[in-house]
Amino acid sequence: MKERLIFIADKLCKNHSLTLEEYAELIDGYDASLAELFAKRAREVRKEVYGKDVFVRGLIEISNYCKNDCFYCGIRRSNKTCERYRLSREEILSCCEEGYALGFRTFVMQGGEDAFYTDDFLCDLIRKVKESYPDCAVTLSLGERGKESFRCLFEAGADRYLLRHETADETHYASLHPTELTLQNRLQALRDLKEIGYQTGCGFMVGSPGQTTQMLAKDIKWIEAFQPAMCGIGPFIPHHATRFANDKAGDVGLTCYLLSIIRLIKPNILLPATTALATLDAKGCEKGILAGANVVMPNVSPISAKQKYELYDNKAYGGSEAAKNVEALKKRMEAIGCRVVTDRGDVRL
Ligand code: SAM
Repeated sequence: MKERLIFIADKLCKNHSLTLEEYAELIDGYDASLAELFAKRAREVRKEVYGKDVFVRGLIEISNYCKNDCFYCGIRRSNKTCERYRLSREEILSCCEEGYALGFRTFVMQGGEDAFYTDDFLCDLIRKVKESYPDCAVTLSLGERGKESFRCLFEAGADRYLLRHETADETHYASLHPTELTLQNRLQALRDLKEIGYQTGCGFMVGSPGQTTQMLAKDIKWIEAFQPAMCGIGPFIPHHATRFANDKAGDVGLTCYLLSIIRLIKPNILLPATTALATLDAKGCEKGILAGANVVMPNVSPISAKQKYELYDNKAYGGSEAAKNVEALKKRMEAIGCRVVTDRGDVRL
């Protein structure tokens, strides 16, 4: 059994590709010793492309208004207990100013699908950020918008777009989202982003309600085919005001194992150690990096926004998640043989 899994691991290292069944075997065979083997190989592969470098991004949570009603998400529209906020142009620019001074050279603007942020508003904002900080990249994570909207934001200067596919299984997607949201539209949006020229990121939650090994294998196989520039995966964490309030959170070890597998599929992928990982485990950030991740996204949002942008319970926003603690983060990364760099952190070819 173990021999067979090591044979598959070798094949993955060599070909960067496996069959759906082989991915399922790897996932079913997950245990701590296999995870360590994969993590070691993932670190070697990452080192060949990125050396010791870990990229940091300043995360700005611009709004928790959302027109969507994703069943797992704490900021979904029908959560009447969610205290809503949105940041103004000036507030977002001041987050960038603070972030730039702290050494961030990428700003990630993330939020719910909030119609307040029209194309005109966002294009003007992106132009202003790029004009003030020409050495910085802008990443957007604002959900599904039309192709023309994606295009005009790209032409205004946005470099990257994160849009998790959530799950590559149609039935699973339907069990996590209301009918107006479809996997077909999500995947089309991802293809549109890539075609426009964005460094495009997909991703999914590990341990989301109803997820099976087969579904995870499908996610991985889909990522292998899509070849994203970035991939955000983090454990599912229940939110008290959702139908999944009493479901179990995803597993930190399994999340790290999947990070390693994704690194081996695409050696130069930009792979964050996510906030959800750090929320479930005080060493989650280190564990993600040791598994092959190479990006950390500390939060530069104002404190009141950080508290209200509550996708799940007990979200971490102190520690390595707080931008002002970037010096401590540097030490934490050095302690595991890595180095935080002041860099846009683009994909290295
Ligand atoms: N609206 C944008 C979008 O849909 O891409 C960006 C914000 S959305 C809240 C960001 C990500 O948070 C989602 O893609 C989802 O995977 C993750 N998320 C939402 N609820 C979560 C939960 N309960 N546990 C873990 N991750 C969650």
